[in-house]
Amino acid sequence: MITINEHYLKLQASYLFSDIARRVTAFQKEKPTVDVIKLGIGDVTMGLCPAIVTAFQAAVVEMGNDATFRGYGPEQGYPFLREAIAANDFHSRGAEVGVDEIFVSDGAKCDTGNIQEIFSGDSRIAITDPVYPVYLDTNVMAGRTGDFVDGRYQGVVYLESTRENGYVPALPREKVDLIYLCFPNNPTGSTISKAELQTWVDYARENRALILFDAAYEAFLRDPSLPKSIFELPGAREVAIEFRSFSKSAGFTGVRCAYTVVPKECTAYDQAGNRHSVHALWHRRHSTKFNGVSYPVQRAAEAVYSAEGKSQTKAQIDSYLANAELICTTLDQLGYSYTGGKNAPYVWIEAKMDSWQFFDMLLNQAGVVCTPGAGFGKCGQGYIRLSAFNSHDRVAEAMARLKKSLS
Ligand code: PLP
Repeated sequence: MITINEHYLKLQASYLFSDIARRVTAFQKEKPTVDVIKLGIGDVTMGLCPAIVTAFQAAVVEMGNDATFRGYGPEQGYPFLREAIAANDFHSRGAEVGVDEIFVSDGAKCDTGNIQEIFSGDSRIAITDPVYPVYLDTNVMAGRTGDFVDGRYQGVVYLESTRENGYVPALPREKVDLIYLCFPNNPTGSTISKAELQTWVDYARENRALILFDAAYEAFLRDPSLPKSIFELPGAREVAIEFRSFSKSAGFTGVRCAYTVVPKECTAYDQAGNRHSVHALWHRRHSTKFNGVSYPVQRAAEAVYSAEGKSQTKAQIDSYLANAELICTTLDQLGYSYTGGKNAPYVWIEAKMDSWQFFDMLLNQAGVVCTPGAGFGKCGQGYIRLSAFNSHDRVAEAMARLKKSLS
């Protein structure tokens, strides 16, 4: 008899985006003349930059000729891309990262979801609330949690990100082994200072824990004092893994390319307390289960680091940040409290009512779609997320409507 992984039965069906879609469809049926503006989605809206398209096309042409065709590539990524990543994303900021410590992949979602399988089933995990749901659900699937009781999985240490702590959680009071941090944060748009992040690195070193640092939104950081990489901090190489993605930094959500950095010093232990290289484990896992990102996609990603690629992708991010600024200015005028939107594409707003109630109000009164914060965890109740991923005209129109309906 074939039996199932019963941990899957503990998973809560995520109704967040299907519920949003259902409510929007019903609204549009009722009021077909209203032009609905979607500020709820975490997907980019601008096309790929010309420098990226040119490199992508050239690589596709190469694939069409026997002389330049490439079959299976290195599982960890082509050296040309890994070298460009190491030089531009790390060495330029004084962070020590070796080319062979970079693992190119098809997405930070897969990497943040898959990484947990190299750690023991009884590792105690710490996850922020609110949270990008992948970290939590993949640990539920692996059996690292108990049942879902009263809005939370048993056995998980929830790190509450609230207005009181500036949406940067305090260190856990109990001992944890695997810590998921994401800055700039999805969904709150909050950022972490070097000093705050250092306390996590120090905690991990003192407790033989490991930090999984998701920096998928680092391209939105404009404040030079904020860390783009955890490896800018002393001691982090022993206790941290970092996830990066071209999805939001260069519009690759549909192209698919990302990478994970696992330093050679990064250590985990067996039950007897002997030290093991996390790099070696992830290398083994990646080589066994992954067959590399396609050559044209890697050439497209390499073009992000060319002079034109850098200025063109920066202009795109600047444009999303200008949208975020407009959202923040409007909220200031309307007297709403919020965080994010300064070094992040998301603005996290105190709704002063139930998340879904605010969602319905915004949809019905302004024809604007947001994301109810309750969908990201218990601490998200009473909040909504607005995303800057849209054209400037659409965001301006949405903000004009907000002013009219909320003031
Ligand atoms: N990490 C965070 C925090 C995200 O918000 C997202 C996507 O929205 C991802 C990772 C996924 O990135 P990718 O497109 O590289 O899979």
